[in-house]
Amino acid sequence: MSRIRSINTTPELLVRSLVYRLGYRFPGRKKVIFVHGCFWHGHENCPKGKLPKSNLEMWEPKILRNQARDATTIKEVKSEGWKVMTIWQCELKNKNIDKVQKKIVRFLEK
Ligand SMILES: [Zn+2]
Repeated sequence: MSRIRSINTTPELLVRSLVYRLGYRFPGRKKVIFVHGCFWHGHENCPKGKLPKSNLEMWEPKILRNQARDATTIKEVKSEGWKVMTIWQCELKNKNIDKVQKKIVRFLEK
């Protein structure tokens, strides 16, 4: 899906290898997992998603734009019949890996 930016960033590779190790292959499932960096995509209620206090006037519109684009992308792919799950970067910390792995399995088994 070429319209999804920042493909092959480290968190995405991590999720990809997780999914792969769980034995899943994406083709044919019509399911897509987005991996979002907490800062750039404005993860709500997340310490890493907070805007910096300095240069707020520069950061805020950027992050809001990214969030709007995310919402549009998700709406588009859903309207094309895809099931969507978002994984946030903070969920990929070592201590959260079991949890996120379960979340992926739940999503893909649905
Ligand atoms: Zn986060």
